[in-house]
Amino acid sequence: MPKPIKYICSCCGKEHEEWPALTYKSPQNYDQLSDGEKKKIAELSDDFCIIYYAGQTGRFIRCTLTQKVTDHCEDLQYGLWVSLSEKSFQDYSDNFDNENHKAGYFGWLSNALPDYTFDESIPMDVFAQPGNQRPDIAPHTDFDHPFVHDYYNGITKAEAERRIRDMMERTNGKD
Ligand SMILES: [Zn+2]
Repeated sequence: MPKPIKYICSCCGKEHEEWPALTYKSPQNYDQLSDGEKKKIAELSDDFCIIYYAGQTGRFIRCTLTQKVTDHCEDLQYGLWVSLSEKSFQDYSDNFDNENHKAGYFGWLSNALPDYTFDESIPMDVFAQPGNQRPDIAPHTDFDHPFVHDYYNGITKAEAERRIRDMMERTNGKD
């Protein structure tokens, strides 16, 4: 396990350990495929994923989400995937190397965070930002779900640290 990076926080002047981002290397739709299907019907890179289902194509991009933490100087960063329409996906890929590109898309959250139950997909706003950064995403405010509630109201530092520990345990178990 890499050693945590320590730094003096510019907000409170105390020493902090830098939190790792909680990132997913692929959308859940990809994870659910068998190894054979992954090779045969899917394409995955650091930022894009396409799945060619019979009669339907799934298009996904990797984004960032900032989860507010109420009692700490630092927020929790996520690397998450959303699915886009064919038109939005095309626009995003066409402008991938254009550092002045700014656009807004509609997407569906495509990773199931283990801290929640997802019976239905969460509608997301996707903000493609200038400067070749990954797009930032935010759930629709009016969608009633604990994930949406936490995003807008924040989680505690203890909860953020629990999520980081859980993610590390899962990742270590896998490798
Ligand atoms: Zn601080």
